[in-house]
Amino acid sequence: MNLHSPISSGDRIFKMYKTRLEKLGIFTFADFLYHIPARYDDFSKVVSIAQATDGETVSIKGTVLSMQNTYTRFRKAIQKAVVTDGSGTVDITWFNQPYLVNQIKTNDTISLAGKIEQFGNKRTMQSPDYEIINDNQKNQTIHTANLVPIYHETRGVSSKWLRRQVYKLLTEIQVPVISTSSVIPAKAGIQKNKDWIPGQARNDNTKIQDYIFDPLPQHIKEQYHFPDLKSALQQIHFPENYEQIAKAKERLAFDELFLLQMQSMHRRHLWRQISLTQALVVEKYKAKLEKLINSLPFKLTNAQSRAIETILMDLQQEKPMNRLLQGDVGSGKTIVAAVAMYLAVLNGKKAVLMAPTGILAEQHYKGIQRLLEPLGLTIELITGSSKEQGAKSKDLNHSSANILIGTHALLYKKADFPNAGLVVIDEQQRFGVEQRALMREKGNNPHVLTMTATPIPRTMALTVYGDLDVSYLDEMPIGRLPIKTWLVPPIKRDNAYIWIKQQIIETDSQVFIICPFIEESENMQTVKAASVEFERLKKDVFPDLRLGLIHGKMKSKEKDMVLQQFHNREFDILVATPVVEVGIDIPNATIIVIEASERFGLSQLHQLRGRVGRGDKQSYCLLFTESQNLQTIERLKAMETMHEGAKLAELDLKLRGSGNIYGTQQSGYRMLKIASFSDVELIEKARNAARATYPNLSQFPKLQNFLEESEKKKISQD
Ligand code: ADP
Ligand code: MG
Repeated sequence: MNLHSPISSGDRIFKMYKTRLEKLGIFTFADFLYHIPARYDDFSKVVSIAQATDGETVSIKGTVLSMQNTYTRFRKAIQKAVVTDGSGTVDITWFNQPYLVNQIKTNDTISLAGKIEQFGNKRTMQSPDYEIINDNQKNQTIHTANLVPIYHETRGVSSKWLRRQVYKLLTEIQVPVISTSSVIPAKAGIQKNKDWIPGQARNDNTKIQDYIFDPLPQHIKEQYHFPDLKSALQQIHFPENYEQIAKAKERLAFDELFLLQMQSMHRRHLWRQISLTQALVVEKYKAKLEKLINSLPFKLTNAQSRAIETILMDLQQEKPMNRLLQGDVGSGKTIVAAVAMYLAVLNGKKAVLMAPTGILAEQHYKGIQRLLEPLGLTIELITGSSKEQGAKSKDLNHSSANILIGTHALLYKKADFPNAGLVVIDEQQRFGVEQRALMREKGNNPHVLTMTATPIPRTMALTVYGDLDVSYLDEMPIGRLPIKTWLVPPIKRDNAYIWIKQQIIETDSQVFIICPFIEESENMQTVKAASVEFERLKKDVFPDLRLGLIHGKMKSKEKDMVLQQFHNREFDILVATPVVEVGIDIPNATIIVIEASERFGLSQLHQLRGRVGRGDKQSYCLLFTESQNLQTIERLKAMETMHEGAKLAELDLKLRGSGNIYGTQQSGYRMLKIASFSDVELIEKARNAARATYPNLSQFPKLQNFLEESEKKKISQD
């Protein structure tokens, strides 16, 4: 066991808490150090008991004169202590913690932190934080008499407990730091370690895994006057003042951004090293491409033309394209992809288009058929239902079609896209990081175009997806009606239901009702809530209408079936959990109701809203909320007037931080732990530092090693 081994390799208590700690993002012992305090209790004012004034939050130190359990009439245990420091005495009360009498004993030296209250000439403290400091030679306290860190907690894992773990690592074990310029002994990673047990003194022949890695080269630390890593960690957990917290936090946030930046530069570098056997030719086929574009029943938006132009440039390079096409739902991404696929086919290559669900794949199949079959191309749909997987990969390898369309699952199958010149991945939330790794593994290196309606703020694109080139479709086709959006307070709910019913009956509309967001990942609780809401709506609200239910715990076949039924208008209303597929195209659905809308970020709401407004009929979005909070209401009101995903994402970032910026529950991508995407200045700094450092890493073997390892990990995970 060592610093970087899983928590479960520790003693019993760690095994027991494994799942809970993982919930907090703590997987290894080193992760304790990076579990950054959410805030601090200011117990730094230390006074004598006589000095303490009524109502003040302070720390005092003294000797326990007495400690005992007493019981109320209702058999509730109360713990009472009297403590003196020579200047006076204070009466302490705790509630319902009878075990305290085993921890706090008469004559103990104790440090207490909390609010002093004065009754007559009696001083009291209720439920103060405490720590016994009998054998503590330096009189060092971590739970009192300081700025005391408060962490994100979970059941059974208290801040006090977490504080002790961090303290052990930092102070008792004194975890050493390894610098970027260290040379790694050969095979260090495989050497068997001497046991390393948290809480025990370390022995001297420590192996490489027992270090925490300082990612910053010395010159960067000097340039920005950052504290060294050890001090930064010490000071963020056990600061002496607020200034130390700010400095430490800046340093650690910088580390995080710097590493993300280095990782994306490294991925980009690896990607760039790949050479294609043959670049695609554009000039020769310009006329044909123009013919396709002119055959469209509409004029391309400027944004579409720009994106096509850029993509054609990419495709002519000998390096594989790695581009993200970002555009709101309905901005017309498909046609951009179709032009690129057509070019690949004209060059004698195949193109592959992948969608997140079977239904979407089918929709693409029909759309691409309409566009490209008249030009003599053959298109094939690789359906999920076509027997088992073996059949699928065979289809893929032996198909004679020019364009193959299927679900994302194609990527994870054995198939290796023979002769694929271009792979298009639609509505991909992970933006191609893993996908590219996978394709590289398979040994073929097609151009890759990833498409998404997820709005990514610029700072985020730069940091996390810095290895991607991004094109934005920031312009809607002319004549597209904005989705009329209303915030609906509780008193208007009944009227809203009446209006919806009327719309269904009179204008033949179909309706989505999105159930409240409960947890990041869809769990049984979410499903149950959706089922209850479904029954309620069916019985009490819309008894004469036909309702369907869809949730993430259904098998994908079942989901596809329900969506198909909705598509065929077998239901008027589809009740869905928030995790319901993006990009689903039901042109006849013109109303979407979002329950408990205050629980969503604006960009999430915008994406949900994008499920209507796909036809040419006026569409509506009703945001239900029970919230009375003025700020919340104001935030949600932005949905009524703002109709651009990227703008809403920026606003989200300002109002709520990055946590909710986009469906993290769908992305599975690790978000920032310490830094924030709204800290544009620090992001720029880290970016500059990374650019100045990469790729000349010969002086920084440990950093190089880190990048290589993290890239390997990414591939093997899939
Ligand atoms: P998304 O970006 O959401 O994937 P689609 O590519 O599905 O959008 O396009 C949505 C609809 O808009 C389609 O019916 C498409 O034919 C149409 N469309 C695309 N581009 C334009 C345009 N420039 N003008 C008018 N309609 C367009
Ligand atoms: Mg689309």
